[in-house]
Amino acid sequence: MSTFEPLTMTATKSPGADEVDQVNGADTNGTQARVGPTGRPLREIPTPPPVKEHGPARVLAMCNQKGGVGKTTSTINLGASLAEYGRKVLLVDFDPQGALSVGLGVQPHELDRTIYNAIMEQSCDVRDVLRPTGIEGCDLLPSNIDLSAAEVQLVAEVGREHSLLRVLKPVLGDYDYVLIDCQPSLGLLTVNALTAAHGIIIPLECEFFSLRGVALLMDTIDKVRERLNPDLEITGILATMFDPRTLHSKEVMARVVEAFGDKVFDTVINRTVRFPETTVAGEPITSWAPKSAGAEAYRQLAREVILR
Ligand code: ADP
Ligand code: MG
Repeated sequence: MSTFEPLTMTATKSPGADEVDQVNGADTNGTQARVGPTGRPLREIPTPPPVKEHGPARVLAMCNQKGGVGKTTSTINLGASLAEYGRKVLLVDFDPQGALSVGLGVQPHELDRTIYNAIMEQSCDVRDVLRPTGIEGCDLLPSNIDLSAAEVQLVAEVGREHSLLRVLKPVLGDYDYVLIDCQPSLGLLTVNALTAAHGIIIPLECEFFSLRGVALLMDTIDKVRERLNPDLEITGILATMFDPRTLHSKEVMARVVEAFGDKVFDTVINRTVRFPETTVAGEPITSWAPKSAGAEAYRQLAREVILR
């Protein structure tokens, strides 16, 4: 086997994958109201009514220039949960690493056409690149390493920041949500995602260094809003990799709430090995371990997103 052959693994479920333990690590505070990990009182987030017609889509960019914070995991699982609520969803892999595509069971290096072609070739229709996923109601615009060339080639283009928006426009009427999985950088691809988006979801891991770099992200968002997309808003901050057993996680959480207030989603995603498992399985946690706390958390996030 060559050193560079992709690792093949069979997904194994960890024991207890079907139990709902504590969703969101709720604390009981004596006789007082139960508080969530955000420090706010726990509240029920209502189940959204079904939709009769689809579109026009609300476009959300999952964005943080730090890697490994849960952008791709959240794109897949929020998308799958929105689809469970009857929403039509398009997931856009906008990272040349193609992790979103892999997480949905697609081998990106085997694809003839990816989002790269839709962006760079006028003759390539976005509908020829779109593909269904194993999740009902959820389509994928896949990418692979070709997309890294687009970043260089686009620099010389007129209207380079609007390239993704141009590609998405013809299909916005077909979906309720378009989720863009951004690459871990603030380069031209991410600026394209922010230009195409109505809102941004920023996943932040509950770790000491998580807030570093967020100021730079906010700067970029402000610039895009000023120069390219005046209506761009921050839909929410999503705390990920929360460990309810550690004081450290709680301290970071308190800092995040202090910095962003109501922008922080009530939903907090706990750290659990079930997420790495789902990547190997190539499916969302909502089907891999449908009754797990992780699946429940992303369903709750979907309800919050629909409400916002
Ligand atoms: P990003 O897209 O921001 O780089 P990923 O979603 O790819 O981040 O997550 C990075 C790694 O962490 C992946 O291996 C993923 O399976 C794992 N992961 C994501 N969310 C969690 C979580 N809540 N708990 C544990 N591991 C997680
Ligand atoms: Mg990613």
